[in-house]
Amino acid sequence: MSQTGFVDPTRESYLFMPAWQKGLFYVLIFASLAWMVKQIIDTRRQWQKGRPAETDNRCLHKVWRYILGQRKVQESRPRDGAPMHLMLFYGFLALFIATSLLALAEYGFIVGLPNFHRGAYYLAYELIFYFMLLVFVIGAGWALVRRWSMVRRQLQAEAARFPGEPAPRLNPLTHEPKDYTGLLLLFALGVTGFLVEAARMKANPQPWDHWAPIGWLYSLILPPFSPAGYLAVWWLHALLVCAFFIILPQLRLRHIVIAVMTAYDAPDRPMGALRTIPMDEVEETGRIGVAEPEQYFRWDLKSLDACMGCGRCTEVCPAYGSGKTLNPKQVVADIHGGLRTGGQVAELVTEEALWACTTCNACVEACPVLIRHVDLIVDARRNLTAEGRLTGPATVTLRQVAGSGSAWGQKPADREAWMQGLNVPLARNTGEFEFLFWVGCAGATDPGAIKTTRAVAELLTMAGVSYACLGREEACTGDPARRIGDEFLFQEKAQGNASVFARYGVKKVVTACPHCFNSLKNEYGEFGAEMEVWHHTQLLAGLVGEGRLKSAEIRPGEVTYHDPCYLARVNNESDAPRRLVGEETNLNSEVPGLIRAVTSPPGPDTERLVEPEHRGRKTLCCGAGGGRMWMEEEPGQRPSERRMAELAATGAKTVAVACPFCRIMLETGRPKTAALEDEIRLVDLAEMLQEANR
Ligand code: SF4
Ligand code: SF4
Repeated sequence: MSQTGFVDPTRESYLFMPAWQKGLFYVLIFASLAWMVKQIIDTRRQWQKGRPAETDNRCLHKVWRYILGQRKVQESRPRDGAPMHLMLFYGFLALFIATSLLALAEYGFIVGLPNFHRGAYYLAYELIFYFMLLVFVIGAGWALVRRWSMVRRQLQAEAARFPGEPAPRLNPLTHEPKDYTGLLLLFALGVTGFLVEAARMKANPQPWDHWAPIGWLYSLILPPFSPAGYLAVWWLHALLVCAFFIILPQLRLRHIVIAVMTAYDAPDRPMGALRTIPMDEVEETGRIGVAEPEQYFRWDLKSLDACMGCGRCTEVCPAYGSGKTLNPKQVVADIHGGLRTGGQVAELVTEEALWACTTCNACVEACPVLIRHVDLIVDARRNLTAEGRLTGPATVTLRQVAGSGSAWGQKPADREAWMQGLNVPLARNTGEFEFLFWVGCAGATDPGAIKTTRAVAELLTMAGVSYACLGREEACTGDPARRIGDEFLFQEKAQGNASVFARYGVKKVVTACPHCFNSLKNEYGEFGAEMEVWHHTQLLAGLVGEGRLKSAEIRPGEVTYHDPCYLARVNNESDAPRRLVGEETNLNSEVPGLIRAVTSPPGPDTERLVEPEHRGRKTLCCGAGGGRMWMEEEPGQRPSERRMAELAATGAKTVAVACPFCRIMLETGRPKTAALEDEIRLVDLAEMLQEANR
């Protein structure tokens, strides 16, 4: 009570509680917390089996961005999944803050702090935190209903399946009893939180109770509560809290803790850069790549523990979506399981699954806890390749890259054949030039890609750009070798090309191949080639912007565009290609913002281009990356067919591309039954621009 006789609004934390119960509560809560910490320390021992971190990447900014900012969740594909998780997360965070403030108010006297849990502060506390408790309860209830409705859909699809038909692949979410236990526990914690509040109001009513409106309304329908009744409810809630701490490390909910630890020291390597294996590491370990789970880095092993089995990675995987055995969520679970049971990664995951990956990074992009599936898969491939377990056409590709320096086996002298009839400047004959036009193996060999190469050369000349090509001095970047798993062939090519760049003092490179673009931009720096690297659509869009070239004229609905994974997702460039056909978009942004991500419908958002469902960073892979271009495909399992069907469904008669690999794959993915007059034209954006500028 204040000196004026006015009673400060507040409440007693341990109302009606005898001292022995208070003591018992402390014992239980500290014991359960200690148990939780012990389990996490035991789990950490499993991670410690791995190799120490490649570099010191510790940074709170990543915790801020990925955990507090919930960036990945905001962008997650299941549109009801994102708001549900945001409610659960921010509700949980608010309750954590509320409990911490309560403890500080109660025990602050130890450091000389008065009990501040009273007056206006107390009323605001009640209003805000009980509102957040409501948010939390709705989030937990939503998660339970969502899970259950997914199971029901799966069961219905199973029931509707004809005998012999493959099992439906609709629902990659995990549905083990423990997944429901965790959610039920969260829901029960929230509901009993309100019950405790309402019971307190019944047993000890105060004039300010309505400042916690949900609890107050709840209290109106409750029967009277004696102090003993109130204490029974209080203990029910407290025991649920203890149970939560004890079983948290065994549930997928452990990601609440481990995802924070994972984000804190996540590798800073760009999505498109694979880790370079130093030769002394091979000499030290006598091994290339990863054969057993504990040969991964500690961070990789820790990240496996953060997996919550949400299935977002599997949902977006083009290999899984086209019926292959690869299931990135299962890859994570298998390697994680192998850490305890032992075994070879290739057996745990299966070689077939490891080779099925296109390294499109859709899984990495989708994973809310930052797991880098592509690193896990490529490290295992490196070991398989070193052990001679790669078979089929990809072995020929590697031999060709090593021998002639072309993934297509083209002789160096023929690498200039595409220039016929054009006056293309060659670096060896020219003095200074601003841009090196990097042609790439496909651009110099494949008939469709050659059209793009010639178009780019003509446009650069037309716009007065100072450029030169390497011709026979250019060799494969080594990208396919690296992603197939032949790391040292990649390094040999990177060193060779980097020394050519150094000889000509190359500072800027432009290329029409997103795979070369990615490797030159994100991977060549380690080999001494520090350059500005441009994709041809970026440079051409700049020239259009400066008025040095005209953009392509298209009629609305006539053209659709396929975003290449290595441009749109891996290197975050989706706007420049669209500017070439006169569209101004804002798809490059990595964080579109909570409201837009949660509410914007998946429909087209451009005026002239007709957009497919999967676009921008969420594009759907054509199936070429990761060396899959040179691997055999089972009938009916081509990602290109699925992608081409989606592009055809837009009704556009022209599919614009910006990658020679995509062009080749989409050609093979054309619907076999299409009548000639229904045929879709595949054309690179550079060719469209060339037509417009003739
Ligand atoms: S990188 Fe692409 S193909 Fe490979 S596992 Fe991830 S989503 Fe699937
Ligand atoms: S790996 Fe990531 S995206 Fe995949 S199930 Fe686990 S948490 Fe979800």
